[in-house]
Amino acid sequence: MDMRFSPDELAFRDEVREFIANNYPHELKGARRGEMSKDDILKWHRVLYKKGWVVPHWPVEYGGTGWTITQRYIWNEENARAETTPLLPFGLSMVGPVIYTFGNEEQKKRFLPGILSGDDWWCQGYSEPGSGSDLASLRTKAVREGDHYIVNGSKTWTTLAQHADWMFCLVRTDPEAKQQEGISFLLIDMKTPGITVRPIITMDGSHEVNEVFLEDVKVPAENLIGEENKGWTYAKFLLGNERSGIAGVARSKKAIERLKKLATAELVDGTPLMKTDEFSRKVAEVEIDLSALEVTELRTLAAESKGRGPGPEASILKIKGTEIQQRITELAVEAVGNYALVQAPRLEVTGNEFIPGPEGSQGVAQDYFNMRKTSIYGGSNEIQHNIIAKMVLGL
Ligand SMILES: Cc1cc2nc3c(=O)[nH]c(=O)nc-3n(C[C@H](O)[C@H](O)[C@H](O)COP(=O)(O)OP(=O)(O)OC[C@H]3O[C@@H](n4cnc5c(N)ncnc54)[C@H](O)[C@@H]3O)c2cc1C
Repeated sequence: MDMRFSPDELAFRDEVREFIANNYPHELKGARRGEMSKDDILKWHRVLYKKGWVVPHWPVEYGGTGWTITQRYIWNEENARAETTPLLPFGLSMVGPVIYTFGNEEQKKRFLPGILSGDDWWCQGYSEPGSGSDLASLRTKAVREGDHYIVNGSKTWTTLAQHADWMFCLVRTDPEAKQQEGISFLLIDMKTPGITVRPIITMDGSHEVNEVFLEDVKVPAENLIGEENKGWTYAKFLLGNERSGIAGVARSKKAIERLKKLATAELVDGTPLMKTDEFSRKVAEVEIDLSALEVTELRTLAAESKGRGPGPEASILKIKGTEIQQRITELAVEAVGNYALVQAPRLEVTGNEFIPGPEGSQGVAQDYFNMRKTSIYGGSNEIQHNIIAKMVLGL
């Protein structure tokens, strides 16, 4: 693959850069998702929807841009460079592709427009207490009664369900069948009576995840995706997309840039930390890992552009991408040292108080705590190692 940009690609990069500079809602700069309102989270989504750029990765017939992989690469780079808020993946990267790939025409007409415009906010009802890594053991039950399913059970770790209009949900429809063969994929309106959402506050102090309880929830049978008891196939397709989306290469590059600035401002016996052998070696190591991951991601994108969806190789992107993200936050905490302590969550430091520490160090501790999640969600990294061993290496 030729990694240099052609004149057309450079022109495209300039167009994207200018569009972001002129249209990104500036009030969102530097905001953390856990502290943002629903409206704020959707602001950038709505701008991109109006421009027709909200789903570059979708087929053109459903609203995609038809960009080449290089253009998509440029798009990601420019968003990371400008530090735009990442769009929520639940509709755009998770259930949307499931609906246009496995849904019927009626479902495509009904659900895709709301996903594209951002009018419908989706959440992911996969995990349950006791069924995370061992997802196929899930117990939330859906029993067919006439033209409805009656759903009972509970989901957990449901990200941003407090704002959701819809949940895509894995349910057990055949308790007698082998685990994977008795699961179905249902779309549930969160306003249906019988649904309760309870917050879980995470260790960085934010409210991102929830428990969702379902008690005799009546779901029209027309909200079933594909065939009854074939939900595991659609669930795995979705997880492949979820995992490759977690790699976050472009954003990690930007995070390394910030880390270097921070470590340049911090002095050790009068010398910038970034100039010390030990610290600069650690940064170099993570940069090398990131370059290797970038090439792997480009290979995946190239395969995708030839019609091969992300297979089990997505697990490699997930593991390396999240290890790098976590490593960068660890090094940032190391760079600011004791100053990270005063930013520890729940100290309730308000905007008006003086926060000691070098410039750019605010939020370093919150980011460190928040990023612990990345090696757990989307299927834990240990599980990804198992998938690579079995499905990629054939062990
Ligand atoms: C911040 C956050 C957001 C999330 N958002 C969502 C969401 O929106 N929707 C949703 O459905 N889920 C969500 N999840 C849930 C996530 O997918 C699960 O937490 C994850 O799959 C792990 O499951 P578990 O928590 O039950 O841990 P467990 O499965 O109990 O695992 C505990 C530990 O044991 C290890 N382990 C388990 N089995 C094996 C094995 N066979 N081999 C080796 N090691 C193993 C795991 O790696 C882990 O370290 C979210 C999780 C987090 C942390």
